[in-house]
Amino acid sequence: MKYYKIAAKLLSPIMIQENRQSNNPKSLSYIPGSTLRGALAMHYLRSIGSSNDEVFNALFVSGSIKYPNLYPSNEQELIVSKILPLTAVSCKNVDGFQRDADEDKIGHGVNDSLVDKLTKRLDQNASVPTCKKCNQSLKAFSGFWSNSVKNPRKIETVLLFTRHTGIDRNTGTVAPNIFFTNQVIADLQKVPIKENKDDDKEYYTQQFNGCTYLSEEQHALLQNLSAKTIFLGRNRSRGLGEVELSIQATEETSFDLPRWNSSLREKCKKLTNLDIPEGIYFSIGLESHAILQDTFLRPIYDVNLDFLNILPVLRVTKTQIIKGWNNAWKLAKSDDVAIAMGSVFLFKYVGNDIPGLTGYLENLKRNGIGLRTEEGFGQISVCNPFHTEMEDI
Ligand SMILES: [Zn+2]
Repeated sequence: MKYYKIAAKLLSPIMIQENRQSNNPKSLSYIPGSTLRGALAMHYLRSIGSSNDEVFNALFVSGSIKYPNLYPSNEQELIVSKILPLTAVSCKNVDGFQRDADEDKIGHGVNDSLVDKLTKRLDQNASVPTCKKCNQSLKAFSGFWSNSVKNPRKIETVLLFTRHTGIDRNTGTVAPNIFFTNQVIADLQKVPIKENKDDDKEYYTQQFNGCTYLSEEQHALLQNLSAKTIFLGRNRSRGLGEVELSIQATEETSFDLPRWNSSLREKCKKLTNLDIPEGIYFSIGLESHAILQDTFLRPIYDVNLDFLNILPVLRVTKTQIIKGWNNAWKLAKSDDVAIAMGSVFLFKYVGNDIPGLTGYLENLKRNGIGLRTEEGFGQISVCNPFHTEMEDI
């Protein structure tokens, strides 16, 4: 298995509807793995083969390929952005990274509050950090970011509203009192880096990227499939949703448990002069929504690790209802309750088998957690440096 980046370049605006039915539909700001998988399956059935083929089975039915969520990026940088953890905080007054390359988005700085939450547990009197520039309180800072502690940037998609009037069936003219709006993701964005002189372009093409593991064979099958442009999302018959897909091998990010643990301890010591109790601390972050169930199929809101000597320390989570549409059945998928992307779990390990635990967590990171991992759910990060190294305030 190798690690690959799947990139979708927008050739037209796209609409990924948040809810199944709504008078005022809103678009998600990313492409879910289920939408990517559905669009590729439809492309296969329309232009290549049938649902009885072995190739179709290998790609879409067996569940062996995990189609990742594609998060916003642009053609200039081609980075794979990440969701900001729910522990990310910024100034209440002027939020944003201090070092953001986009002048319009520069704020008073972004910090991570995981260590603050931990120290609050150890010492009830620990002070609550505030903005160093204006002393205002800090509030949650959400969205996507460039996933680089050295060069942090907020990544946003431009959402537009398209407006339509109703047509009177008898006269063929505009019907009175019928007017509706749709929200779509724009295919172009204004270039944010103003010093970039070699290129006088004013707009760049919106791009979405995500990563997954593929075998040589799966890679070859997908490469054949995505040679052309495909259509995804809603309102395809109106020209929306055209994207060009590409797949490239990319480098995998790794983690180092003991190193992360000591950075966490250092940060805690620096902030409060307190020592965290014994144990190797590590974090698990949800990079996409995770659908977890117990043996009675009831939703659960905790990540249970099947490894000895692990104790939960704290968690910062949100829930999310997952709605979907199955194009093959022309039916709504049943709703699932998930833990929302960005949720963070902090654990501590009190055993001695660090290599064993590292292997276990690497496996978890590779395979994802919970249900519907083939649709991009349950992607995790381990020991996110954002919690220990992000100091932007
Ligand atoms: Zn401030």
